[in-house]
This record gives sequence, structure tokens and C-alpha cells, in this order.
Amino acid sequence: MAYACTTCDAEFSSAASVSQHVALHHNTCAVCDESFDKTDSLREHIHSTH
Ligand SMILES: [Zn+2]
Ligand SMILES: [Zn+2]
Repeated sequence: MAYACTTCDAEFSSAASVSQHVALHHNTCAVCDESFDKTDSLREHIHSTH
């Protein structure tokens, strides 16, 4: 069974791979689905919010 990215059509073999892809390519938080302009903003969000 494939795990698909909800933002683009990329498919992965595990949920962890999807989360990693989303964080790296879309700057989107895998926990609350909020998106950010920069990777740094996302990283800061994850550290301060989750
Ligand atoms: Zn994607
Ligand atoms: Zn979040």
C-alpha cells in the first residue's frame, strides 16, 4: 500500500517518508498541516508548538 503526499502526487512506501517529504519539499508541518515560507520557520514552529 502506498502513502501519498496530500500536496503533490508523490507516493511513498511509509508514512514516515511522506512526513519527511512534506517537511522538506513543501515546508508543511506534518502534525497540524500548517505551511511556512521557509524551512527555518517550520523548524521553529515544530519546536515551539509541538
Ligand atoms: Zn509532495
Ligand atoms: Zn504544526
